[in-house]
Amino acid sequence: MSECLFCRIVAGEIPADLVAEGDDWVAFRDINPQAPTHVLIVPRRHIPTLDDLAPSDAALMGSLVAAAAQIARDEGLVEGGYRLAANCGAGAGQSVFHIHLHLLGGRRFSWPPG
Ligand code: 5GP
Ligand code: ZN
Repeated sequence: MSECLFCRIVAGEIPADLVAEGDDWVAFRDINPQAPTHVLIVPRRHIPTLDDLAPSDAALMGSLVAAAAQIARDEGLVEGGYRLAANCGAGAGQSVFHIHLHLLGGRRFSWPPG
């Protein structure tokens, strides 16, 4: 059994509020939402951080971004705007070491992020 939390969610070993899924990715709601809509989009394959990506992962990451944009449309976030974020490394706030995109929407966001 994997010790990675998001691998276990992908495998269905830990329950999650699933939003959508594709061949290479799964999207589910964050357990501690930082906005009215807060969805995590994760690859099915375990990749710890953005720094571990290879050139051959470009299509995979493209599919994650495209999935996030479609979920934003489905969740009605486009008119108000939304934010797509990825933290790389503990210093940037990464706490789960399985790549994920945060899709946040439903409120106003400041810039730069804290
Ligand atoms: P990071 O800090 O690595 O960028 O983001 C990890 C995210 O995973 C956090 O926003 C956190 O709330 C979320 N998270 C942590 N544990 C769980 C869990 O068991 N289920 C879900 N759905 N989200 C989780
Ligand atoms: Zn994993």
